[in-house]
Amino acid sequence: MTRAPEAVPATAQAGGSLLIKAVETTVLDLPLRRPHRFSVQSVDTQAVLLVRVRTDGGITGIGEGVVPGGPWWGGESIEGMQALVQGYLAPLLVGEDALRADYLGHRLNRFVSGAPFAKAAIEMAVWDACGKATGLPLHRLLGGAHRDTLPVTWALGADPAPQVLAEAADELALGRRSFKLKMGASPPGEDTARIAEIAEALRDRADVAVDLNGAWDEPTASRWLPELSAAGVGLVEQPLPAWNVAGLARLRDRTDTVIMADEALRTPHDAQRLAEAHAADVFALKLGKSGGIGAVRRISAIAEAAGIGCYGGTAIETSVGTAAAAHVYCSIAGLTAGTELFGPRLLSDDIVEGNSAGGRVGEVRLEHGPGLGVALDEDKVSRYARR
Ligand code: MN
Repeated sequence: MTRAPEAVPATAQAGGSLLIKAVETTVLDLPLRRPHRFSVQSVDTQAVLLVRVRTDGGITGIGEGVVPGGPWWGGESIEGMQALVQGYLAPLLVGEDALRADYLGHRLNRFVSGAPFAKAAIEMAVWDACGKATGLPLHRLLGGAHRDTLPVTWALGADPAPQVLAEAADELALGRRSFKLKMGASPPGEDTARIAEIAEALRDRADVAVDLNGAWDEPTASRWLPELSAAGVGLVEQPLPAWNVAGLARLRDRTDTVIMADEALRTPHDAQRLAEAHAADVFALKLGKSGGIGAVRRISAIAEAAGIGCYGGTAIETSVGTAAAAHVYCSIAGLTAGTELFGPRLLSDDIVEGNSAGGRVGEVRLEHGPGLGVALDEDKVSRYARR
């Protein structure tokens, strides 16, 4: 028998409803502190889709959608996300009860295929409205927090090793104990030599992870991963293209490096396939790539069942998306591989009041106010709004 989500009784019967009246979107362009390099390109601003879900009780939930490096990573663009939210996703939610957030997430999937980044932005705003309506922080709606701070790694730049090590030294002095480096933009041998020099220099002082963003093929990865591992790189993220799950499993068998799946893992079905193929030691979770909070929680359940660790990924969000991710990650028991919630620190400005995501260097703190627990700084929102 197939499931019939439309037949679920309305929450209005117990505890009232929170009807969604309108959904508004704003595109913002935020400058980065320094360019962030991926295997195919470098970016110096981050476009952000701010979503506001307004309800009949006067409560407004906020959500944030970002695509790291534009359409290159996931096929969605900020302009496309805005059009999809306004034209297709919002009409599916208007008139519905915001307190049925998980049901509404399924409803979006039933009527619109794909587009996880756009769905995640609007779903986040629905969850924020739920929290504000009940007076509870998001992590409490998700079953409660297992921890109230999360370790945060730092993305080192793509400059030559001496410059990168100077940056690392500053971060170490501030208390940072974990670094992540992007690879894949230069020839594999050269790339490996640069990273190996950095990893050797940081050995015993910090954990070093690298992210290939799928840039290598299987023979290249088999050739160079052992050298990275020998130099002290403790984790390799997505060395092979997203589609090559079988190759990732073979690589994991042949090398002693911890393998993390990122691009290969979007949906709960991907999680199931990766687990069955024994293709990853760690899953990189991200709200955007998976379509939101509901999907990430389903992925984390598969990881827990399969004995796979979870890592809290970022798409370089402001403190809005970062707070949401922290609520979700803190409420997942198996989030044991750390996080990269450095978005607010990589951006040169933020859009919330106060400096909410900023705990000590190297950690992010869980918010305890209702919903996401962050308030928009409207002056900054209008300053960065795209015109
Ligand atoms: Mn990645």
